[in-house]
Amino acid sequence: MPAQRCYYEVLSVTKTASNDEIKRSYKKLAVKYHPDRNKGDEAAAEKFKEVAEAYEVLSDPEKRGRYDRFGHEGVKGAASAGAGFGGFDDAMDLFSQLFGGQMGGGRRRRGSGGGQRGNSLRTVVEIDLFEAATGCQRDLEFTRKETCQTCSGSGAKPGTTPETCDYCNGQGQVVQRAGAGFFGFQMATECPACHGSGKVVRDKCSDCRGDGRQDKQIQQTLEIPPGVDNGNRISLRGEGDAGPNGGPRGDLLVDVRVKEHPLFQREGDHLTCRVPIHYSQAVLGANIDIPVLESGGKHSLEIPAGTQPGEVIRLRGQGMPDVHSGSRGDLFVQIQLEVPKSVDGRHEELIRELAEIENTNVTPHRKSFFEKVREFFSPDDDE
Ligand SMILES: [Zn+2]
Ligand SMILES: [Zn+2]
Repeated sequence: MPAQRCYYEVLSVTKTASNDEIKRSYKKLAVKYHPDRNKGDEAAAEKFKEVAEAYEVLSDPEKRGRYDRFGHEGVKGAASAGAGFGGFDDAMDLFSQLFGGQMGGGRRRRGSGGGQRGNSLRTVVEIDLFEAATGCQRDLEFTRKETCQTCSGSGAKPGTTPETCDYCNGQGQVVQRAGAGFFGFQMATECPACHGSGKVVRDKCSDCRGDGRQDKQIQQTLEIPPGVDNGNRISLRGEGDAGPNGGPRGDLLVDVRVKEHPLFQREGDHLTCRVPIHYSQAVLGANIDIPVLESGGKHSLEIPAGTQPGEVIRLRGQGMPDVHSGSRGDLFVQIQLEVPKSVDGRHEELIRELAEIENTNVTPHRKSFFEKVREFFSPDDDE
């Protein structure tokens, strides 16, 4: 995966650019690289996606703030695991939002093949934290529109061919004049007779009723990369619906949810785990088994003598893998002191004996605490 360009550079604005400047610059570049003007130009399509991604981050004050502080890492959660920003469809959606459907909207534009682009399909998969750490597979089952076998996608009854639409002369769109006099303007809208395809089918294919597509059950295995985080989106280009009348396919967009784990809290690539120990273990030190996500799930941890509650022991490389580089974050073990709710018998005897010792031998830590308390209540008395 090539290094990502700086978003400010992508939009040719300075780091102090106002929202208006960012919007103006995005609009200019999006029009320049729009697929309708650059038919079949892959480099332009990439640029079109790149400026949309940059605009998506820099136009949102919260995301922009995170981007300024942490760079691309800071806004990674917003992008998808595999393919960056949600993909081509998201870029088209953003464009139609800002331009209100001029130049043809996102999904209904006419593709280079003459037909509209098929719909993108969305689905959600839920995995647990262990699966997120190791990566996993999921079998997806969904219905999508596939080219009709009977008419090969033309929508016409076998033996017949679609005719050029009379209403739009095969253009797929009609130009209407809106407004009045000097302020009038022309607006291109989809042809109501042929719905943008430029063709009409007189004798419809009986299997697809003229649409050129049929619903089909699809089973597909999804590869989920190690390190995927809750909210990531995996975009599979061209795995959505086939377009009507031979148009290009939409995408399949999979949103990943990672279930909360009872023992580990995740923050980016790091994990935190709270581990309770006994008072005696804190004082004397101990070796305890703690859970880790690695296979086997156990790690022997040395608790040094004199460990205080709340102290954090950092285990490097025991966190989550980074979804791009694979390098692992750390596990932060937070030590907690487990205090028994009640004691009896020999246990109680020992605790009482311990209490006597602790009440007579004041530890240095305790002494300084009481000195501080005294100073707090009467600051001038001692000095
Ligand atoms: Zn058909
Ligand atoms: Zn038409």
